[in-house]
Amino acid sequence: MKAHEYQAKQLLAEFGVPVPRCGVARTPAEAKRIAGELAGEVVIKAQVHAGGRGKAGGIKIVSSPDEAEQAAKAMLGSRLVTHQTGPQGVPVNVVLVTEAIDIERELYLGIVIDNVAGAPVIMASEAGGMDIEEIARTRPEKILKAYVDPTTGIRSYQTRRLAYGLNLKQEQIRPASDIIGNLYKLFQAKDCSLAEINPLAVARDGRLFAVDAKLNFDDNAAYRQKAVADLRDTSQEDPLEVEAKSKGIDNYVKLDGNIGCIVNGAGLAMAVLDLLKQAGGGAANFLDIGTMNDPERVVQAFRILTSDRDVKAVLVNIFGGMARVDIIAQGIVNASKQMEIKVPVVVRLAGTNVEQGERILKDSGLKLVRAYSFKEAAEKAVAAAKKSS
Ligand code: GDP
Ligand code: MN
Repeated sequence: MKAHEYQAKQLLAEFGVPVPRCGVARTPAEAKRIAGELAGEVVIKAQVHAGGRGKAGGIKIVSSPDEAEQAAKAMLGSRLVTHQTGPQGVPVNVVLVTEAIDIERELYLGIVIDNVAGAPVIMASEAGGMDIEEIARTRPEKILKAYVDPTTGIRSYQTRRLAYGLNLKQEQIRPASDIIGNLYKLFQAKDCSLAEINPLAVARDGRLFAVDAKLNFDDNAAYRQKAVADLRDTSQEDPLEVEAKSKGIDNYVKLDGNIGCIVNGAGLAMAVLDLLKQAGGGAANFLDIGTMNDPERVVQAFRILTSDRDVKAVLVNIFGGMARVDIIAQGIVNASKQMEIKVPVVVRLAGTNVEQGERILKDSGLKLVRAYSFKEAAEKAVAAAKKSS
C-alpha cells in the first residue's frame, strides 16, 4: 500500500524528521488561505501515488496567495501523467501547500528491504533530486549503503558513517544522522517496504528538511497496522484491482496485454504469463483465484475480467489440487448465466474431479474453446484474442 506525500510527511514529523511547514488543500480557496498563512514563496504539490511530478507539472513554486490559488485550481480535478503512471494518469484530489525551501543541495535517503541480503538497506547519496534511478544505473558508486541487522536495529556508527559520506558540514552531521536513524525507526515501526526522502534538502541557512517523502507499506502487515490502513486512498489505485480486493481476490494485478487469465495458484499464474508471451500474446492481468471451493469466486473473476475493455479473450487454466475442477466448471457455467461474456473463453482443466468438471461443461452447452495441454491453451488463447480484437 502507498501513502501520499502529505501523509508520509505527517509520519516523518511524528518520528522527529524535520519537514517544511505545510497545509493540505482540497479547494483553490484553501490553498490560497494556507499560502497566506505560510507567507512568502510556497510550493503547490499535486498529491498522487506517483513520483516524477516535478517533470510533469505537478510541482509549482509561486510567490503569492493568488498565484497559489491559480496553481491549485489548475491541478485539482485534473489527472497527472508522469513517467510512473500510465498514459491515463492519476487524479489530483488534494494539493499540498508548503513553504518553499531555499535549497542549496539535494540529497537522497532511502530504505528498502534487500531481498538477497534478507535485511533492510539504507541508501544515501549526494546525487539526490529527480534522477536517482538514473544514478543507480550509471553511477552506482555514488550511492552509499548500510545494511541493518533487524534484530539489533540500526547502530549510531552506521548513521554517522552515512552522514559523513554526504559531505556535510560538521554541524550538520548530528542532524543528518538523527534523520537517518529516525527514518529507520519509522520504517520499522510502520512495517514499510520503502521509506524515501528525495530530496533531503540542505537549505542555504544550513538546516536539513525532507522536501519530498514517499512511504510504501508491506500489505502482509496490514493486520497490525490499522492506522496505516486508514491512509489508503483508493482513488489512486486501479479500479479493477480495488474491486477484486473487495471481492476477496487478493492476487489481481492489471497488466497491459489482452488475454484475461483465471488461474489458481501464483506459480501457475506466472507460468501462464510466460506461456502467453511465448505464444506471441500477452496477459491482461495476473489473477490467482486461490485454493477455494466456491463457484462464486469464479463468477467474480469473470465479472472483473469482462469489465476490463482490454480483455479480448479469457483463458481459464486450472489445475485442481485442493481446489476441485468440478466446482470451477460450475463457476464458469454460473458466470455465463449471470453475465454476457462477449469474448471467446478458452478453458483447460486438469486435476481433481476433472471428469465431473468436463461433464458439467459439456452438459451446459456453452460455446467454449477447449484445450487439453498447457501449450495448446496458450496458443488458442492468443489466436482467439487476435481474432476478436
Ligand atoms: P517529485 O518530482 O514527484 O519527486 O517531487 P519533489 O517533491 O521531489 O519535487 C521535485 C523537485 O522540485 C525537487 O527535486 C526540487 O528541485 C523542487 N522543489 C520541490 N520543493 C521545493 C522547494 O521547497 N524549494 C525549491 N527550491 N525547490 C523545490
Ligand atoms: Mn521527489
